[in-house]
Amino acid sequence: MRRLLVLNALIFAVLAAAAALAYYSFSATSEQTSRERERTLMQDLAEEKVANFEFLISSSDTKLMERIELDKLIEPDFIKGAIGPAVASVYVLEDCDPGDGCEMKFVTGGHNVTSARTDAESNAYRNWFMARVLAPAPEGQGLAERLKRLKLNTRDHLILNVGLVAKQTNAPPKPYLLSFMKRASNGRTFYVIVEDDTNTITQVLFPQFFVQSAKRLYQVVDETGLVRSGDPFVYQADDTLVERKFVDTFDGWALRVAQRETTDVSAEQRKRFINSLLIGGAVGVIVIGLVALAFAVRRERRLNDLKSEFISNVSHELKTPLSIISMFGEMLALGRTKSPEQAHEYAEIIWRESVRLGRLIDNVLDFAKMERGMDVYEFAEDVDVIETVARAVELSGRRVAAAEMTMTSILPEEMSPARLDANAVTLAVMNLIDNAVKYAADGKKIEVSLRQEGDVIMLAVRDWGPGIDPEEQHRIFERFYRAKSIRLKPIRGSGIGLALVQHIARAHGGEVTVTSKPNEGSTFSILLPIDGKT
Ligand code: ADP
Repeated sequence: MRRLLVLNALIFAVLAAAAALAYYSFSATSEQTSRERERTLMQDLAEEKVANFEFLISSSDTKLMERIELDKLIEPDFIKGAIGPAVASVYVLEDCDPGDGCEMKFVTGGHNVTSARTDAESNAYRNWFMARVLAPAPEGQGLAERLKRLKLNTRDHLILNVGLVAKQTNAPPKPYLLSFMKRASNGRTFYVIVEDDTNTITQVLFPQFFVQSAKRLYQVVDETGLVRSGDPFVYQADDTLVERKFVDTFDGWALRVAQRETTDVSAEQRKRFINSLLIGGAVGVIVIGLVALAFAVRRERRLNDLKSEFISNVSHELKTPLSIISMFGEMLALGRTKSPEQAHEYAEIIWRESVRLGRLIDNVLDFAKMERGMDVYEFAEDVDVIETVARAVELSGRRVAAAEMTMTSILPEEMSPARLDANAVTLAVMNLIDNAVKYAADGKKIEVSLRQEGDVIMLAVRDWGPGIDPEEQHRIFERFYRAKSIRLKPIRGSGIGLALVQHIARAHGGEVTVTSKPNEGSTFSILLPIDGKT
């Protein structure tokens, strides 16, 4: 009954663990899918935002550069309304004449078309521009060379990472974003250079374009990984962060977009730890459950084999005394006896076999009740244990004598009255004596002893028979189990006697044990608490 409960609990636990695993993998998959969806969304967002920003800069710079005409340079405000949001200065250049000893020069009025700087700053910037930016560079990579190679009316751009500011402070070099275009009018070629102010872009435009939201964080980093706009991310798992490079303005810079939720490292780690614990636990439960079920199935199969053996054993045990009874009964009925002594002997055989038959039937019925978990015991207070054991010895006397064995009983003079089911205890002792007669007849002797130690009744049945193989000693108390060495011999038995003895002992809150050495005999001991508490 209890085993069935445990088995059901195990099956339930395995099912629950499997369901938990299935749920976990489902939620992990959907979490993964939603993470992938979120990632694609962030990529699209980054793409769109960078494109919008670059479009603003490049289109407004282009518009401004296209508006410039050489003959209007000295007109005040002729470019009004075309100045983009970050424009810091606009210069107009043309090629130097051969013999001038320079690459390029400012067109008259074109060295400061517009500027957000003070005059001094503006002059310093212009000087630096002429000396460093327009100076011929190796391999034709200088701005002057690039300007000359440009296609007409096409915007190009450049980032200059060296500058005045960098020399003055310890700050990282200030990047200068320059847009430029080659133009031609009235047969003259000229070049327009628009400088956008990096500070305005990083401090005003970037925060306007890349607005931090409750869900997403934005950050602009330069080519060295330095954060130019936005807060540094505390922590980002790689799969929750996307990056999009700038191509039309700040070459090498990138916009990074991240999810805000995953910034908590410890929560993420705790979640991972709990998940691995849960998965490990579920797998453990499934493995343990399956192993236990495999054992249970094996045990059940073994029990079934034993049961079929039991049925054939019991039928055999019933048949043998019955055929003996009917044979001798028939002889008596037909008067086929030579003398009254022989008739008496036949009658005794019939009586003995019917007693054995009766006991076997009792055993089987008790066992069946016990198997069904029915309460088969009738406990009584103040039972005389000595008398209970003596009755078992007396009832078995004839059987012992018939086997040509002697039985001694060592019973104490006095003993405390006990709480027990006297019939059950007598049956247990008789079963042990029966076994000694059946299996240890060669030893010729049986000793039944009883003593009290404190609150414990100690009952022992000893024989001097073949003993029991140590490997089988714990198994002989199992239902239907019969020792291997016995199975081949013509000794009748059903394999339920010792299971019954064990059940009786345990029902009294006690235990039955065996000590045995092959060829030296066996001692079966029943220990019972005197107050019969279970
Ligand atoms: P049964 O006697 O009907 O086979 P039991 O449950 O009484 O069933 O005994 C189980 C097995 O224990 C026996 O088959 C036998 O092999 C072994 N056994 C029991 N008592 C003794 C004994 N006194 N000496 C040797 N073997 C024993």
